[in-house]
Amino acid sequence: MIRLAGITKHYLMGDEEVRALDGVDLHIGRNEYVALIGPSGSGKSTLMNLIGCLDSPTSGSYVLNGRDTSAMGDNELAKVRNEEIGFVFQSFHLLPRLTVLDNVAQPLVYRGIPRAERQRLATQALEQVGLGNRLGHRPNQLSGGQRQRVAVARALVGKPSILLADEPTGNLDSRTSLEIMALFDELHRSGQTVVVVTHEPDIAAHCRRTLRVSDGRIVEDTMNAPRGATP
Ligand code: ADP
Ligand code: ADP
Repeated sequence: MIRLAGITKHYLMGDEEVRALDGVDLHIGRNEYVALIGPSGSGKSTLMNLIGCLDSPTSGSYVLNGRDTSAMGDNELAKVRNEEIGFVFQSFHLLPRLTVLDNVAQPLVYRGIPRAERQRLATQALEQVGLGNRLGHRPNQLSGGQRQRVAVARALVGKPSILLADEPTGNLDSRTSLEIMALFDELHRSGQTVVVVTHEPDIAAHCRRTLRVSDGRIVEDTMNAPRGATP
């Protein structure tokens, strides 16, 4: 599903070249549940932005569901992103003036889906995250955990092949973080491919596989013990 080979990403800062990624090879298969961990500045966000087709590598190849994205221009990349990727961010990014239903339906507008069908799909996604009873609320009428569940519903509404979450629990207290991770666990169980960027070990422990990034490379790739098992 996700195949990165020899990926590098360099940024130019004045005359200085920053090597954010430095030779990443990675395969992530369908229905995997992956945590991306590592210290600040190690390259996690850069890697996530590449996997999410928000950015292109300096060199190397990225094949997503059989399509080589490395040579794509911005428009083509945006199309792949809209079709394949659902994003969840630390800071929710909901539109405050729109209802919960309209926030979740929003990504479907760009696909030219008629309004009634958008609302049907958005309602379904909100039911999936347990918010079928909050369709008409505004984001500021919801708790932080509920807002993040709306953001998850918005990420899911287009039926993406990959759910990519960047520090999804970074703005939540520990109880609410657990709730969100329980939701990701459930999505994984129902077949969704999930990739979570986090620096919190408790969060990473929910995933089945942990990739540790350091200095722009993947330095560790481990399968996690099933949760609940004694070490
Ligand atoms: P992490 O997400 O692990 O904190 P990043 O991927 O954000 O790491 O950053 C990796 C390295 O690339 C860091 O040295 C960072 O300063 C640099 N970097 C990230 N984005 C940019 C950018 N847009 N321009 C220049 N340097 C960047
Ligand atoms: P923060 O840690 O400041 O809350 P976010 O989790 O909101 O950061 O965003 C992480 C990264 O994703 C940033 O580099 C940001 O520019 C980018 N980003 C945030 N929202 C969007 C969006 N709706 N579409 C594309 N990129 C986004």
